Amino acid sequence: MVTESEHTAPGAGQVADDYLTLALLASGLASMLRRRERAGAGQPDDGDGLLPAAWRTAFGRLWWRCHEQGVAPLGNDLDLLALCAHPLAAWPVALSLSDQDLQSSLLVDGELSGLAEQSTRLAPSVDVESEWIENRVYEALRTAASENGGEDGETDRAYAALRRLLIDRPFLTDRDLKKLERQFRAADRHGTTYLRRLIEMAYVARPAQGPQVIIRCVGCGNILADHDSRCATPGCVDQPAESVTVTPLAAIFEQHRATRRFVHDPGLVEARILDRLSASDLSRRVRVTAYPALDTLDVLIEFLRLDGDGTDVVETWGVDAKDQTSPRLLGRMFRWPDTLPCDRHFLVLPHHRARQIGYIADLKAELEGRTDGVEVVDEKRLVALVTDRARRLGR
Ligand SMILES: [Zn+2]
Repeated sequence: MVTESEHTAPGAGQVADDYLTLALLASGLASMLRRRERAGAGQPDDGDGLLPAAWRTAFGRLWWRCHEQGVAPLGNDLDLLALCAHPLAAWPVALSLSDQDLQSSLLVDGELSGLAEQSTRLAPSVDVESEWIENRVYEALRTAASENGGEDGETDRAYAALRRLLIDRPFLTDRDLKKLERQFRAADRHGTTYLRRLIEMAYVARPAQGPQVIIRCVGCGNILADHDSRCATPGCVDQPAESVTVTPLAAIFEQHRATRRFVHDPGLVEARILDRLSASDLSRRVRVTAYPALDTLDVLIEFLRLDGDGTDVVETWGVDAKDQTSPRLLGRMFRWPDTLPCDRHFLVLPHHRARQIGYIADLKAELEGRTDGVEVVDEKRLVALVTDRARRLGR
């Protein structure tokens, strides 16, 4: 889950170390990439002609680090930019980051890496185009949910269904959209449905007519360039590609990069948890709510009393699922929402993160003293715990 509260970066004083330098570098890189994109599109430069302030501050911090360590300072900005494409462990200056984070670079194929994107959230002033689009997507999602929902519970249900749409459908045709508009009918005064406004914000439309072959990843459904391309979604290592044929009337909508990186990809673990916990063998004893109280949590699990009419809630667990590159950064940014009372609180990791050596230990070390009573488990362990609890309560 990514909520807006997480976009409020902590003050600089909280992170007086190399993670802040990383955040400033990543934020500076994001600004530079955006400027390059604007220049490429023939749009005027909105900067002052200088390199971004975050970048310059990071350069200064690195200068001091070099000085402390007695290594030659970095020559100029181009040297630093070139370093950003190399793993941090290979930099001439030693940075105090987790071993795992040191294996990452900040740029991959000229774009921000997962670590860099996660780091920008820690920067004192976040100035990232993709982040801005991410917020606009969430705004459109909330509007579409409330316009289609009406009553409180209905809005929650519409929100969960629309959020799930963004997870399940990395692309869709205009024909699919028309079908969905019959389900989500609410429209603005110009007659445009709020669903269409959401899709137009979260996806890019490309003209296409008649049967179209699309190559996608079997694991996550993201579109691939060809059968030999590797899917970049975390957790999709070794997933094969498959071809599907779709038949649009005039357009195919493909998810915007920001939607894919911030809503679709991290949403896959949420979807797996929801599907498993909603399976029929548990449904009599467990009530599962996706994104309850307008996305306060990812999943609310209510254990039901079997005797009686089956609606008595005897225990409530809350789940926040997180699929992030750096456990150190995740630990620093993590807050348990207090507004929804639960008996047990779970920070759930996808299998591909939990199995990385040191990931859970680093995360727990960072959470220590910061959040009390939050249990860190992987997705399989959560399902096992829920199944076991339901069985015991059912006796
Ligand atoms: Zn994939």
